[in-house]
Amino acid sequence: MRVQSDFVLTATGLEKRFGRKLAVAGVDLAVPRGCIYGVLGPNGAGKTTTLRMLLGIIDPDAGERIVLGASRPREVSDRIGYLPEERGLYPSMKAREAIAFMGALRGLDWAEGRRRGVEMLEAAGLGHAAGEKIRALSKGMAQLVQLLGSMVHRPELLVLDEPFSGLDPVNQEKLEQLILAERDRGATILFSTHVMAHAQRLCERIAIIAGGKRRFEGTVDEARALLPMRAHLVPRSGNGDTATFLPPDASPVRDGFDFEVPAEGIEPVLARLIESGHGVAGLSIERPGLHEIFVKLVREGEAAA
Ligand code: ATP
Repeated sequence: MRVQSDFVLTATGLEKRFGRKLAVAGVDLAVPRGCIYGVLGPNGAGKTTTLRMLLGIIDPDAGERIVLGASRPREVSDRIGYLPEERGLYPSMKAREAIAFMGALRGLDWAEGRRRGVEMLEAAGLGHAAGEKIRALSKGMAQLVQLLGSMVHRPELLVLDEPFSGLDPVNQEKLEQLILAERDRGATILFSTHVMAHAQRLCERIAIIAGGKRRFEGTVDEARALLPMRAHLVPRSGNGDTATFLPPDASPVRDGFDFEVPAEGIEPVLARLIESGHGVAGLSIERPGLHEIFVKLVREGEAAA
């Protein structure tokens, strides 16, 4: 069955059991075309199993998925790029051949794959590695080569399982740029991670999975709005009783106090400090990061599971 939609991928009620372990317990996903989408979850949450079901590498026990209009994802595998969690390239192949080889597996002409491979390596600042054998490359460099191989056939959908793990900060930055360039080319990118900083910077939408179930789906801003704003306040002078004028959850941090901005706003807190003579030397108010939301949702999700 083929269905045209604004979503590159939809999944409903996906379930997978391994023996007695219910690894994925009914996950729904809808990935809009042209979006960078993050599947976030702690170790063992079921991310890899979900991605493998979406790609048709394994079949779900229940639920269905439609990928690029096909209910059997393997039928459209030439239009998909995939970086698996377990990395692996033939050690005796040269980097440019490894890229061409991965392209050929998805139907790309070998010579064209080699040409694009050299071009992509140069663009990624790895031109010097094009003629090197995979076994001579560092683990991180080999990982980038494999990533380039997963995109060489210019897929419409790129699925990357934990692409940042094992890369140093410079190469993580390089990978972020590559993902953005793929999105600008028109691809849809679905990647899994448990490092929130990448997701916060890159993703237009995210799903948080814990204990085999989806605990959140939406934009990063929607996720961050789930927790109240946090204030960091520095009193002008402290005589030991400052905390009595602050909300009960205020905890001393560095030169001041951290607390959740109360429902009635920050103004009453400031008024109390000024009236009591403590004054206010500094104040910053920030949305909690994705990290805090992730920890909260995962704890709740794992307790529920
Ligand atoms: P990580 O971040 O650690 O890679 P993940 O979110 O990708 O974790 P999965 O690899 O999908 O999680 O695993 C989910 C659960 O299913 C885990 O408890 C795992 O041990 C189990 N599991 C996954 N694959 C298999 C398998 N082939 N046989 C048995 N159990 C499996």
